[in-house]
Amino acid sequence: MKYHLGALLLLFCGHLCSGWFKFQGDLRLINPRTLQRYLRFGNSLSHWGYEHGANESPPDQWDKKFPACKGAQQSPIAINTAKTIRSSRLEPLLFHAYSSFPEANLWTVVNNGHTVQFGGSYNSSYLPTLSKGGLAADYAFTQLHFHWGTTSLRGSEHVINDKRFPLELHIVHRHSSGDNREAHGNSTGLAVVGILFELTSDERKRLRQLDTIAEALTEVIEQNKPANVTLEHFTLSGLLPPSTGYYRYMGSLTTPPCTEAVQWFVMKKPQKITEKQLSAFRRLDDGNGLSGLDKLGDNFRPLQAPYQRRIENYRGKELRFSQ
Ligand SMILES: [Zn+2]
Repeated sequence: MKYHLGALLLLFCGHLCSGWFKFQGDLRLINPRTLQRYLRFGNSLSHWGYEHGANESPPDQWDKKFPACKGAQQSPIAINTAKTIRSSRLEPLLFHAYSSFPEANLWTVVNNGHTVQFGGSYNSSYLPTLSKGGLAADYAFTQLHFHWGTTSLRGSEHVINDKRFPLELHIVHRHSSGDNREAHGNSTGLAVVGILFELTSDERKRLRQLDTIAEALTEVIEQNKPANVTLEHFTLSGLLPPSTGYYRYMGSLTTPPCTEAVQWFVMKKPQKITEKQLSAFRRLDDGNGLSGLDKLGDNFRPLQAPYQRRIENYRGKELRFSQ
């Protein structure tokens, strides 16, 4: 019986691992199309995870298969605001076309066993784009996804003054010019906006856009079954906090392959989330466990050493949008 199971796993792995091997090492070696798939649909490869278990390698072993994970510019990090650098050269981020909708208001949502991820197809003139804020170029929106806890005492990846938040949203953008290979071959290929959510018991203070997200999550309870959902009135601008203040530093993807190509902007002002909204995230299956009933959560990477990195602090003004 064991032998048959092994053979079956090998067959399955032959299919899956061919993709997995491509993800080892430097992202520059990756076929741009594979990378595009990673950015749009997430890393659905199942060989890594967040807990010590038989079927997946936990964060302290990611570097065995993904050497970049032991680099000196890894994310997430703890931010001690007293040690951040207030830089006069910094300016607000400009969120261009953040209020636009994808074609037909259609979003592709996938629970990839590590997170839940949202992406959409935009007409090129309406593509949400990030610029300014010290960025040397425009960065086009690619996907957004979340990290959360199985309890509200934890969940965020970044920690501010020793405080963890129950949920963190990542809005991922890619360098607009050049192809993927070029964008990921340098340390500024990606720009990610991190938004922290703190718990509120006051329904009126909750971020209402998360109700739309929560409804969409019911379509992707099962792992690796993407769904196309129509989200009326859902825009990226509706996710942003009302102030532009941010912490900025050079870091990495917080999941394998841990590529050090990310300019991080962690927004200072948290948004608010209710237990009810959080429970929608905690209902997603993680595809692990013998029963198949394990739930996705605590999908945050342990804190990484900051080493000598500068963490810049932009005080913040009112949010700027342009159409
Ligand atoms: Zn993330």
